[in-house]
Amino acid sequence: MGDGVGTPFLGTDFARGQWALGTEFALHSRGQTSPEAEGFGDGVNTPLTGDRLAPRRRALGTKLTLHYKFRRDHMTIVCIDAGHSYDTPGKRSPDGMNEYAFNRAAALAAKKMLLKEGITVLTPHRDDHDVPLSARTNLANDSRADLFVSIHANAFGGNVWKGVKGIETYIHPLHSHEEKKLAQTVHSKLIKAVNRPDRGIKTADFHVLRESKMPALLIECGFMTNREDKQLLASEDYRIKCGEAIAEGILDYLGRSRKIYFVQTGAFSQKELAQKQVAALEKAGFEAIIK
Ligand SMILES: [Zn+2]
Repeated sequence: MGDGVGTPFLGTDFARGQWALGTEFALHSRGQTSPEAEGFGDGVNTPLTGDRLAPRRRALGTKLTLHYKFRRDHMTIVCIDAGHSYDTPGKRSPDGMNEYAFNRAAALAAKKMLLKEGITVLTPHRDDHDVPLSARTNLANDSRADLFVSIHANAFGGNVWKGVKGIETYIHPLHSHEEKKLAQTVHSKLIKAVNRPDRGIKTADFHVLRESKMPALLIECGFMTNREDKQLLASEDYRIKCGEAIAEGILDYLGRSRKIYFVQTGAFSQKELAQKQVAALEKAGFEAIIK
């Protein structure tokens, strides 16, 4: 099961009010990559072919405009995906740390913070089996999530200690402007929060980036194959810091990060009294409005 916070799945019948479902969505066909192809692709750019890019390219021209035209008026849904599962082969540090242990803890921290801000959070990962990548993106697409963020830990070359370290964020090569903006916001927040080497924003034709219809990121929070990074990745403190920084970046992107505190000085049934109050406040040097 998931991480036990909130409702992990929303059904496909989940209502979203006046959401306009254009034919573009129906045209967005599935790609050819197997889950395994991406499973081994962490941090490595998969070669691109015209066929595999076609669905996303076709969808990009129309879907994002349509998506953003309606997004702001509705409940915000963010898909927080912890990559892999406990039983995924490989995906371990040279000394045996399970990548999923990091991914799920960071995802849980991100989820908790987003829930507090009133965001609906979907978590397509499961502890007891590796949910196929297509099921992960189907959940996000069918629920019409606004954003998709997949959290991972990186590996470089064979499963031995290496010097390569730091954080990198992936977006699809055919990313939209919004997708890049999301990446920049989340990536810079994360780098700032954990102060690790910045390996930049990169592009890759990963399944979760290609097949998700909303702006999507895959974040590699450090290298399991680097001793220094791995020590951090194994610590609860770093896992929570990463998750919360990712959530803060998402909130920033959504324009939710700035809290506004309103101070009320009165409520009147007669407009004249309200105007009198405004005049008194202005005289005292305060800005005041009648609502
Ligand atoms: Zn991974």
